[in-house]
Amino acid sequence: MSLVDLPLLPLGKGRDLDAERGVECPGDLPSASDPDLVARAVAAKEALGERVFVLGHHYQRDEVIRFADVTGDSFKLARDAAARPEAAYIVFCGVHFMAESADILTGPEQQVILPDLSAGCSMADMARLRQVEDAWDALADAGIQDSVVPVTYMNSSADIKAFCGRNGGVVCTSSNADVALEWAFDQKPGGDAKVLFLPDQHLGRNTAVLKMGMSLDDCVLWDPLQPNGGLTAEELQGARMILWKGHCSVHGRFTEDVVDELRVKHPGINVIVHPECRHEVVLKADLVGSTEFIIKTIEAAPAGSVWAIGTELNLVKRLADAHPDKSIVFLDRNVCYCSTMNRIDLPHFVWAMENLVAGNVVNRIVVDEDTEREALVALQRMLDLPGRSHRD
Ligand code: SF4
Repeated sequence: MSLVDLPLLPLGKGRDLDAERGVECPGDLPSASDPDLVARAVAAKEALGERVFVLGHHYQRDEVIRFADVTGDSFKLARDAAARPEAAYIVFCGVHFMAESADILTGPEQQVILPDLSAGCSMADMARLRQVEDAWDALADAGIQDSVVPVTYMNSSADIKAFCGRNGGVVCTSSNADVALEWAFDQKPGGDAKVLFLPDQHLGRNTAVLKMGMSLDDCVLWDPLQPNGGLTAEELQGARMILWKGHCSVHGRFTEDVVDELRVKHPGINVIVHPECRHEVVLKADLVGSTEFIIKTIEAAPAGSVWAIGTELNLVKRLADAHPDKSIVFLDRNVCYCSTMNRIDLPHFVWAMENLVAGNVVNRIVVDEDTEREALVALQRMLDLPGRSHRD
């Protein structure tokens, strides 16, 4: 395998527009120490008026989220942008796959801008199209491809969503992964149906075992860096869930021993985690759910309750600030930001906005027509799933 095929490379190096890892930011970036940055951002936003709509993902820095017209998870933000057709410019303070989703779901006259092209997603980057196509061929060699439905998490690149679209598959969020899996298994009646779940092994495993009643033995792990995924044909034939070996570098950090430690330290503490966390951690938690679920649970919690939250630190800090009547701690001993999300800082935001004011569209994210059409097929299948909100 050549260097360019490796899923994880130093962020911001080189030029590979297809990669989640992104590319370097061209042009003059304002200095981070410029005391006028906030005023410059305010002025640019005022000058652009209704022509710009700023999206802020929940995991984004405070210094940027304050300028967001709307906050949320990736799918909600993309739909919010689509509902604002008068906004010619969609400035997405999030990561690359999110901006792609916004470009897919918004109109052709709307331009989506990612203030720093180096803001990729390490999880999305763990499933590259060529690797997935190789895996798909291997499933054919094992004689099971006709039984397999590909399901990809929203946190994947547009070309992986398109792969699912053209191969009878669907996109899911962390809120509807169980409904998507039920749908997928229904597509292949006869008892031998299987799902290839991309790219987050943990969401796939947690959903299969905790919500679908499968066992860990029903799941196998496809490692794209091993020949034939590191699996035998018999292992593939015996599996119901073929989990892609990808994970979130943020949620993958939480560990069971910290849960144990916090329970000793704070008897009665409630532990709530995101389903991108490892299965062992989820098993030890009291509650598991999407970012929106975590926010709503904390909002509804009684004053005086004590919580440990296992999700990205920017969000946990904002929740703690917004709910001083509750005691909220982070489920990790160390600082645990999404480093790629954090690349969207105030200098990049000001740089992108001031360029728009000057008539220069910088860092536009464009999904090509074929990819968009096929990705929309998989997204539409998700939208057609029965009765569940589609938030991640
Ligand atoms: S938090 Fe995890 S899944 Fe989300 S953008 Fe960061 S690396 Fe990707």
